[in-house]
Amino acid sequence: MNELPSNTANSNFIRDIIDNDLRDGLCEKVVTRFPPEPNGYLHIGHAKSIYLNFGVAQDFGGRCHLRFDDTNPTREEQEYIDAIKTDIQWLGLDWGDHLYYASDYFEQLYDWAVHLIQIGKAYVDDLTADEIRNYRGTLTEPGRNSPHRDRPTEESLNLFSRMRKGEFPNGKRVVRAKIDMASGNINLRDPIMYRIIHSKHPRTANKWCIYPTYDFAHGQSDSIEHVSHSICTLEFEDHRPLYDWFVENLPVPSRPHQHEFARLNLSYTILSKRVLTQLIRDNYVSGWDDPRMPTLSGMRRRGFPSEAIREFVNRIGVAKNDSVVDIAILEYCVRDFLNQQAERRMAVLRPLKVVIENYPDGKTEDLEAPNNPAKEEVGTRKLPFSREIYIERDDFMEAPPKKFFRFAPEREVRLRYGYLITCTDVKKDPNGEIIELRAQYDPATKGGNAPDGRKVKGTLHWVSASHAIDAEVHLFEHLFTESEPRSDEDLLKGINASSLEILHGCKLEPSLGNLDKGQTVQFERKGYFCTDTDSTSDRILFNRTIGLRDSWSKTQSSKGG
Ligand code: ATP
Ligand code: MG
Repeated sequence: MNELPSNTANSNFIRDIIDNDLRDGLCEKVVTRFPPEPNGYLHIGHAKSIYLNFGVAQDFGGRCHLRFDDTNPTREEQEYIDAIKTDIQWLGLDWGDHLYYASDYFEQLYDWAVHLIQIGKAYVDDLTADEIRNYRGTLTEPGRNSPHRDRPTEESLNLFSRMRKGEFPNGKRVVRAKIDMASGNINLRDPIMYRIIHSKHPRTANKWCIYPTYDFAHGQSDSIEHVSHSICTLEFEDHRPLYDWFVENLPVPSRPHQHEFARLNLSYTILSKRVLTQLIRDNYVSGWDDPRMPTLSGMRRRGFPSEAIREFVNRIGVAKNDSVVDIAILEYCVRDFLNQQAERRMAVLRPLKVVIENYPDGKTEDLEAPNNPAKEEVGTRKLPFSREIYIERDDFMEAPPKKFFRFAPEREVRLRYGYLITCTDVKKDPNGEIIELRAQYDPATKGGNAPDGRKVKGTLHWVSASHAIDAEVHLFEHLFTESEPRSDEDLLKGINASSLEILHGCKLEPSLGNLDKGQTVQFERKGYFCTDTDSTSDRILFNRTIGLRDSWSKTQSSKGG
């Protein structure tokens, strides 16, 4: 496993529990696991669980397993297994030899189900799913026993083996634990252990047509792997008595314990594979790795560095009560990391041409620009300058208000790392739209400074027109308009219709043509950007990772008045 920085050792109540267990001799070796169901890609909530599980294992000298909870073949696919592994590795973690699948234990789990039937603690039920629901009772009313609950052991054993052989269709019979239909905890009202699913499994193919439920598979898998601390999210708290019941009633090889922590909820975001699947299916996004998705693959494609995700997870900590974390914290971590690491480049997103009339036609100069003014060691690059350049359309105003210090008629501005130029004329089309500016440059100001020390307030980024690379740039906003979007049937109403803005004809400095895939750079004054995975030499495509400042809260507060 890669070394996690020591600040992941921030104390939290899970670490306190482990500390105490080690001190009291209740645990010899710390073994944790991350147990994804391969029915979708990982999202940032999973990253919290991953760093917690791998982090405590590392800090207590133990190990963390990656175990796929592949117990429902109708929703699981090899594609998801592969993607989950890629994402965990991208986070900088390594499960070593400890890659497991719940499906590795199907034979053992079957034997244990037989065992529970034999000792009178499980039975085959013939009720339909609807009937089982009706018999289950409610939070205020006890459930009723199934008419099959007391069928002879031999009969249940026989039916279970015929279920395995494939004699019955889906849903015809189930195996249930015989616990207590009147329990105050509904999870203990004879929970289902096995169901019939005639479906090809990504790993066991057609070997099985009965599959264990999460509840029957999870704790026993932990036990087989000698997991000491089975760390999961709070929604499993009510399942813990059942987790313990199975482990206590079966001849399992070790005694794991489940501990729950608060899941990550993020503002303007929904972290639920069910909802993310729906967004993809209904074409609100292009796929799991759409840069607007809260998935790790989406964030990677958008240019979020994994170091920033790790820092974010450190900052938010681990608690025992649910809350919503402000997405601005995640964005802060991304911006902060990139501010230090990303190289600077020039790109004009909404170009306006400027012709420098006193600069010789056909002449090109290579100007020197630092790759990161705060980090001399990353060196400089050549920036071509010529008679025609592009500047940002909104860096020019014909009748500028008082505080506008950028370009305007008769005004002098600095071209970053270039010259001082003064606007001499404004060309318009018949509709009055500005199509070109004319300017004069001062040859004595190379590098951007006047020898006489005259003050020039505005500094603009620019790109030489004849050297520029054409690109498409995608800008993103949050996928949802509300800070706490609803994941129910009103989900679609909360979708931000303008979460993607596509800009064509952007002009980039030539060095951006050979950026490494996955490298995020700062476009000066515009934010952080990276090449998209779909970018080709014919269609250069950049994603905006994040703006320079928190423009989202700014626009929100100005909308509010
Ligand atoms: P989802 O709710 O998105 O469908 P899930 O819990 O069904 O996710 P799993 O693949 O079963 O997805 O999750 C694997 C592990 O990740 C579980 O231990 C789960 O508790 C944890 N996990 C899932 N979502 C979050 C979250 N938002 N914050 C922290 N941990 C999470
Ligand atoms: Mg789950």
